[in-house]
Parts: sequence; structure tokens; C-alpha cells
Amino acid sequence: MRKSFIAFIVVVALLPILPTPEFWITLANYIGLYSIVALGLVLLTGVGGLTSFGQAAFVGLGAYATGYLTTQFGISPWIGMLTGIVITAAVAFLIGMLTMRLSGHYLPLGTIAWGLSLYYLFGNLDFLGRYDGLTGIPSINLFGYTLNTGREMYFLIWLVVLLAVIAIQNLLNSRPGRAIRALKGGGVMAEAMGVNTAWMKIVIFVMAAVLACVSGWLYAHLQRTVNPTPFGLNAGIEYLFMAVVGGAGYVWGAILGATLITLLKDQLQFILPKLLGANGNFEIIVFGVMLVLLLQNAREGLWAFVRKLLPQKPQAIAPDSAAPLPTRAKHARGETVLQVINARKQFGGLVAVNDLNFEVKAGEIIGLIGPNGAGKSTMFNLVTGVLPVTRGEIRFRSHGELKRIDNLSSREIVKLGIARTFQHVRLMSTMSVLENVAIGAHLRGAHNDVTGIATSIARLNRGEEQALLFEAKKQLERVGLGNMLYEEAGSLALGQQRILEIARALCCDPTLLLLDEPAAGLRYKEKQALAELLNKLRGEGMSVLIVEHDMDFVMNLTDRLVVMEFGTKIAEGLPLEVQQNEAVLEAYLGGVE
Ligand code: ADP
Ligand code: MG
Repeated sequence: MRKSFIAFIVVVALLPILPTPEFWITLANYIGLYSIVALGLVLLTGVGGLTSFGQAAFVGLGAYATGYLTTQFGISPWIGMLTGIVITAAVAFLIGMLTMRLSGHYLPLGTIAWGLSLYYLFGNLDFLGRYDGLTGIPSINLFGYTLNTGREMYFLIWLVVLLAVIAIQNLLNSRPGRAIRALKGGGVMAEAMGVNTAWMKIVIFVMAAVLACVSGWLYAHLQRTVNPTPFGLNAGIEYLFMAVVGGAGYVWGAILGATLITLLKDQLQFILPKLLGANGNFEIIVFGVMLVLLLQNAREGLWAFVRKLLPQKPQAIAPDSAAPLPTRAKHARGETVLQVINARKQFGGLVAVNDLNFEVKAGEIIGLIGPNGAGKSTMFNLVTGVLPVTRGEIRFRSHGELKRIDNLSSREIVKLGIARTFQHVRLMSTMSVLENVAIGAHLRGAHNDVTGIATSIARLNRGEEQALLFEAKKQLERVGLGNMLYEEAGSLALGQQRILEIARALCCDPTLLLLDEPAAGLRYKEKQALAELLNKLRGEGMSVLIVEHDMDFVMNLTDRLVVMEFGTKIAEGLPLEVQQNEAVLEAYLGGVE
């Protein structure tokens, strides 16, 4: 990738120096301006999975802020930019707070409403010149040079594009970046690893808005005039279209998309009216058809194809050594770690967990068994805060004290030292095995959720990155996946994906490990290796609660068993006792007789 990046910079730098016709420079300027907005959409939509039709409104905010301030008060465009960024960030933060917590279609709808209302606001405010807009916007002064011409502005525009590319790549390739990339998984996994998903969504929303604002600022000083037209909803849709066509999941997709759509639009605006013998924005129809075709045949966008032609190397590479991460003190053997007291979960009329009681002690492996639908996974979800209890209490030992955790969110529970795997694996299939596991170490980074983002963008996170990736590698080696660090997680066999989840959970540095059917899909040898690992963990003082259907595996491994049927505990005791229990035999064999 390095070489192609340098080649790209050389081409970009040569274009205005060579006797390139003015017309091409103009086009290249627009491509740059659109790319900056589309790059924001890569972060927001392609990576974060949040769709926004309202980016053009943020472009407008940036353009109008500087337009108004520089023409009315004669202040420097640079102050105009900073003011625009502050306003945009504040507005985006507010909109983000209001809409990000809502799921599904609320965000796109919210951004449409926002895009429309700002457009009409620009057009109706006297001090912004109504639909005529503002004129006489001054040029930008950079180190004593006044950027009067398009050719001069070109350098600044493409410098911003390059900086945005580098910033986004740096961010995505970091601890907060992995958390952002994990958002698409739906949030349950990310929260279970300690990621504040609501905050991460607001962060990417604000960042995308700020990029759009900077594009608007450049636009205003390139055109020297602003009016509402380029900031309407149709422009918002076009930006999204560029990102999707190019490949919203890749930074280079944004630039490719902006380039293709700009060139195509230019050609179509020229050809189509001639062809059809009438005036109109017919290119919109062509774009519409293209979008449908693309979504049907190439959802990843065109960059996905280009990418295959370029040499690939893994984004995150684990070091051979790094400073060890701080670890949690283990509980004293025999201490009660988890206490479940009359825990109940109802889904409407269905009682999935019926007033369940049991305990887990430090250094114990407890098996939770029972037929399908008995409520085992639901019990896991109650302990890890994925689902709230209907009633009852769950207590967990942290800092030497048993404390109630049934009122905590899963993000807070993992902080206390409970980590889990999922019965239906939840991993990011296009991320490497190493990066997936590093998500588990999210809470063990050196930076918080604000400084972490800033340091990642500026690449001042080396030490943190090395430590987290080394930890991920260590845990992967421990579970026997050390030779697959850089494979795509989605390419692993299902059994290996379950093992990957164990490594990810171990990265949380838990004192209690919850494993939901970890041996399903494993071969005999792999099951033996897993049993060995769990034995070793127990030896180190770890407590494990395990759901598993393979009875040989469970009987040989566990210290005690809790048996559930239809949400109710029907037996508890040593594996041998439980094996002979009438009720248990009935539950397992009852239907067969
Ligand atoms: P197990 O893991 O023991 O196979 P589960 O805990 O997955 O069982 O399910 C217990 C019961 O609760 C099942 O009848 C299941 O259909 C139901 N159930 C589980 N999760 C939900 C949910 N989110 N909403 C409604 N019903 C659920
Ligand atoms: Mg289950």
C-alpha cells in the first residue's frame, strides 16, 4: 500500500505544476472537495454503519460560517474555519445525542430532516442573503501567499484530502478504531467488551460533520460566493452515492467514488440533454440506475475490486515483545465469585429463567447444562447485563466485595471482570483474527475515550497499540490460534471462531469466564486442547461458567453442574451425582422413550 500511496501523492502534486488545462484543475478541485465529505461518510457509514443523508448541510454550515464572518467582519478565513468547526461540532454533537441512541431508521430520517431544514434556513435568513447568498468572500492567505486562483487552491484542497486520509487510516488502525469498526456488529459484542458504543457513534458523527464543514470552508473560498443550492438534500444524497459507489468501507473508495461521479456527472450533463433533446438534470436517473445495480452486484463498491489488484499486508501487526498490561488480582480460591439469587427472566408470558439460584466459587468450573431452550444462554445474558432481570439479584465479587450487578450495563460488568463468549459467534469477519481479539483488550488501553481518539489520529499511540496487540497475540497463542493471527476472522472454521472468542474474552483479563457452547464444532483433538486450556485457567484461579452439550467433555472437566429445564433448576451437584439423578435422566431421555 505504501508504494501506491506515494504514487498517488506524486500524481496529485504534479497535476497543477504541469500545464494541465484550467478545466481539469477545476474538476480536480471539486473531486477533492467531494472526497473530503465522502471520507467522512467512510468513517460514519461504511465503517460505522450509520447512514447520513445530511452531510451537505454540514458543508453548508462550514461555507456559511466563514462566508458570513469574513464578509461582515472582515476577519481571517482561518478564524472563519475554526468558528465553523466549533459550530458544526456542537450542532453534530447535539444531533448525535438525540439520534444516535435510537436505532434503525431514525438516524437516516433525522439526517434528512436536518438536511432539509438547514437548506431552507440558509435560504430564508436575511443576514445570509436568502437564496441569493453571500458574495465577495475573500481568498485564503497561506504563509503569506494569497490563494486567488483555482490552481492555487488546488494545493490546499488536496493537502486537506491527504491529511484526512491519513487521519482516518490512523484512527481506524487503533484501539478506538477497532471499537468503531466493531459497531457494525450490532453493539452487543462491542458493549460486552467494554466499548461505549453510543459515544463512539457520536464521535464518528461529529468527525464526519467536521470533515464536511472543512470542505464547505474550502468551497466558499474557492467560489468566493455561497448560496443554498449546493447544500440541499440532493447534494446530501450525492455524497452518499459517491461513498457507496467508490466503496464506503475504504478511504480510497471515497476518493474513487468522488472522482468517478464527478467525471461522470460532467460528461452526462453534457451528453444527456443533447441525446434527449431537452434540458434537465437527467444524470440523476443514470445515477439511480447505477446505484441499484451496484447494490445488487457490488455492495462493497468499486474499490473492493481495485483493492484485489494491489498487494495486501495486514493492517495491525503484533510485536514480538511489549510492556505487559496491568492485570486484575485473582480472587482467593474458594471465595464466592458469583451469586445468582432468585433470578428470573420473562419474555412476555414465557418464563425463560425461573427463580434460579446458584453460586460460582473462585477456581471452579461450573457446568450449566440442560436441553435446548432451557434458558442457559438467557442466564448468561442476565449475568453479563445483555438483558435486564425481571426480578431477583445477581452479585459479583470485585475489589474484595460481593456487589449487585443486575442493575449494571454489560459495559460496566465487563469492567468488573466478567468476560464471555457467544453461542452464536459475534466477530468482525473482515477484520483479522488479531484485531478481533484486540477488541477484547479495549478496556486495558492507556488512554480514555477522548484522549485515545486524539492520540490515535496523531499516531501518538504506539506504546498502547504495541501492548494491546501483543496481549492479543499472547492470548491467541494460548488458545492455539497463534499461527492464524493475520487471517480474516470470517475465513476460520466455526469451531476456531469459537476459540477466537475465548481468546478475546481472555483479553478482558476476567476473573469469571462465561463460555456458551465453546466445544460445538470442534474436533476431538481440539476439544482435548480446550479442556486442557480450561484446566490450566482453573489452576490459575479463574472461575468458569460453561454451557456445553458434549457430556463427556462436561463430565470430565467441571467441578459441579447446574441442570436447567424450562427455565427451572432441576438438579445441582457433582457431575457423577447429577448423572444418576432421576429428574435429569427424565429431562434428557424423557422425550425419547
Ligand atoms: P438455551 O440457551 O438453554 O438453549 P435460551 O436461553 O436461548 O435457551 O432460551 C430460553 C427460552 O427463552 C427459549 O424458549 C427462547 O425461545 C426464549 N428466548 C430467548 N431469548 C429470547 C428473547 N430475546 N426474546 C424472547 N424469547 C427469548
Ligand atoms: Mg443457548
